[in-house]
Amino acid sequence: MIVTARPLVLRALTLGLGLLLAPLLHAEPSAAVAPSAGIDLAGIERSTAPGDDFFRYANGAWLKATEIPPDRASYGVVAITAELTSQRTAELIQEAARVGAPAGSVTRKIGDYYTSYMDEQAIEARGLRPLQPTLDRIHAVADRHGLARALGATLRADVDALNATNFYTDNLFGLWVAQDLDDPARYVPFLMQGGLDLPDRAYYLDPSPRMADIRTKCQTHIARVLELARVSDAPQRAARIFELERRIAEAHGRREDSEDVRKGDNHWTRADFDTKAPGLAWGEYLSAAGLGAQRDFVVWQPGAATGVAALVASEPLETWKDYMTFHALEHAAAVLPRAFGDEKFAFHGTVLAGIPTRRDPWKRAVDATSAALGEAVGELYAEKYFPPAAKARVEEMVRNIVVAFGRRIDGLEWMAPATRAEAKAKLAALRVGVGYPDRWRDYSGLEVVRGDAFGNAERTEAFEYRRSLAKLGRRVDRSEWVMTPQTVNAVNLPVMNAMNFPAAMLQAPYFDPARPLAMDYGAIGAVIGHEICHSFDDQGALFDHTGRLHNWWRPEDKAHFDAAAAQLVKQYDAYRPLPDLALNGALTLSENIADVAGLSAAYDAYRLSLNGGPAPSVAGLSGDQQFFLSFAQSWRDKMREPALRQQILGDGHAPDEYRADTVRNLDAWYEAFSVKPSEALYLEPKDRVRVW
Ligand SMILES: [Zn+2]
Repeated sequence: MIVTARPLVLRALTLGLGLLLAPLLHAEPSAAVAPSAGIDLAGIERSTAPGDDFFRYANGAWLKATEIPPDRASYGVVAITAELTSQRTAELIQEAARVGAPAGSVTRKIGDYYTSYMDEQAIEARGLRPLQPTLDRIHAVADRHGLARALGATLRADVDALNATNFYTDNLFGLWVAQDLDDPARYVPFLMQGGLDLPDRAYYLDPSPRMADIRTKCQTHIARVLELARVSDAPQRAARIFELERRIAEAHGRREDSEDVRKGDNHWTRADFDTKAPGLAWGEYLSAAGLGAQRDFVVWQPGAATGVAALVASEPLETWKDYMTFHALEHAAAVLPRAFGDEKFAFHGTVLAGIPTRRDPWKRAVDATSAALGEAVGELYAEKYFPPAAKARVEEMVRNIVVAFGRRIDGLEWMAPATRAEAKAKLAALRVGVGYPDRWRDYSGLEVVRGDAFGNAERTEAFEYRRSLAKLGRRVDRSEWVMTPQTVNAVNLPVMNAMNFPAAMLQAPYFDPARPLAMDYGAIGAVIGHEICHSFDDQGALFDHTGRLHNWWRPEDKAHFDAAAAQLVKQYDAYRPLPDLALNGALTLSENIADVAGLSAAYDAYRLSLNGGPAPSVAGLSGDQQFFLSFAQSWRDKMREPALRQQILGDGHAPDEYRADTVRNLDAWYEAFSVKPSEALYLEPKDRVRVW
């Protein structure tokens, strides 16, 4: 599992460009309430013993008083923080639309993008006309060569195996241009599997009745989309399209395998495509994708490339054309007449995520603009909401956590001296980005036309794609950010030996310069510790301090680590959020290790920050109690059943409630809350996992 790379809180908050045309699960602004800066004392449920259920103790009263809004799959700190951030971002974007900035300026582009997306009348009036050239090209496909060209033209830079970690694209393949894992000074194009309407192969192949029901509804959904576009024989075509997708799903690699970098790092020359994956005219596919001159690639899921290429040859041309027609409509749904967006939401929002109501157009417009012109909007955001003093305080915390982590490395009796030296070298070379990038991205090559929502979305995807292709042959830029400053999330970039902590993550309840440091270390400190740990965990061990894929652990180091990891797998396998579904301790292992180690490092750093002095008590809470409560309240969240199911099945992160229970592995928590052996979360000292 590629832990090293995962966004920390993820779930619906970090939309890749693949979803740019249809932001469905994104957090949305409504009446946002500023989160309290300190511990939420009123949210605590005092009738629950901290040692029985720490998440409920810290959050029970809040859970009882809170309803999940009807247009959301879940609700909690991430949503609340994202809501406030969205509201602020919306104000900045709407202001840009009002001021009448000069043509060609980035402020004007922000304003025009938003205004066009909001102009539903214009979108309705144009109907399917903006998509017609695409539909005509699909219709004109006369043979397998034409099919290869048409498929190649859909390739976009919409996936990411290690940094933003997005394994989904609705196009047949997705492109990610990143550092060569075997030669980190150069960029290489990674080709990743895609082409499914449902989120993952498991949805097509799992025999459970719930999944069977979703499949039936998916087929109906495909038929409805075709009917909306007045395609004849929609139900019959939908059945064939779904069956083709089912076969593509059979060829797909499993999610666990996609997350294993050693299984993904497959170098293919241009000639390898024809011998290893016959059936697709790769020369024409790659030329149409602008990669005709590229000689070497990395094929992340070789089985999918082989299987899908064979299907391109074996399945009827008409079925492929219907499939492409459906995907073109579905991909563009958000900027087509409202009926298309509503239908997409009814399936992807309501059926798949349990969200009853589609968000207001202005909220979707804000998200789409913020995704399309991410760093341009981010520059406005950082200027207003992340002052230099806040940046300095976070940077000081980062320094303490790095020191604490270094001491933990020094204290590891089991680690061999050579391994320890490499770990220290890696820690020394780490680049921790706080708030925003040093240099902002240039949007001068992106044309935004007022009144053309469809064209703007299409040009944005093309702009990002060209930007990715342009990296090939250039020197690797280690200072590049993969998250925008207005993103409530954080990320470790393993090949760059770097991490991003966007400005929007650095706000209450994660961080607040006005409160005691214990609370900041318990919340954002644990997040920072979590991300740093990813650089040194089982996946971090795969990349040395230069970013090369090269395991710097000795087998003995690995054996110790695996023993600790096995304990943690057991700990999480025992959690059963739904009657028919337990957590998958193996799937979430790397994230759980990072949670344990990150919280431990943050705790040490917090003690360091006291310089031997006493921690100030607040409302009768000791410093240690503030630290752990702040941590558990930072995981505050309520989820609907379908969303919880989707997360348990497909997400490398455990649900938030169980992440809060990480505390049971730290001795200091037992002392702070007088936890007794009879209580549910109690672990014998020997069962408390200490990886670092
Ligand atoms: Zn993580």
